[in-house]
Amino acid sequence: MTKEKSFKCEECDENFDTERGLHVHSAKMHHDTEKKKIDLRILELLKKGNMNIEEISKEIGKSREIIENRIEELMEKEWVQKKVESSREIYYDITELGEEVVVPLMKDILEETKSCIEGVSEAFKKRLGPKLPKITVEWPEEEE
Ligand SMILES: [Zn+2]
Repeated sequence: MTKEKSFKCEECDENFDTERGLHVHSAKMHHDTEKKKIDLRILELLKKGNMNIEEISKEIGKSREIIENRIEELMEKEWVQKKVESSREIYYDITELGEEVVVPLMKDILEETKSCIEGVSEAFKKRLGPKLPKITVEWPEEEE
């Protein structure tokens, strides 16, 4: 019996013949989900009160660089706004749009996607064993 080497995705248990295949899959399928999770955590923190990059970074356990990057995008979408107290104190705050529209929406989407990936892969595993078919998750288009 020959055992072929395969690369398993930690996120969804899908198997790949090559490491490259796994990387492509992971970047395409899970990268956005990870970003959205961070965005949601940032928004939820800012709902409780204004924070600076340092505080957010510490709270979420991601590097300053990642947080700065996410904050930039959240500001472009006008979900987060900058509050400058002085040249040294720059805080961020959630906007009304962010709080009232985006947070509930993101929670729903993340929950739905999660149960979709978990539910579907579980169901397939029960029927077919560990080898899973490709599952793609599309995020809804963002409105301009
Ligand atoms: Zn995966």
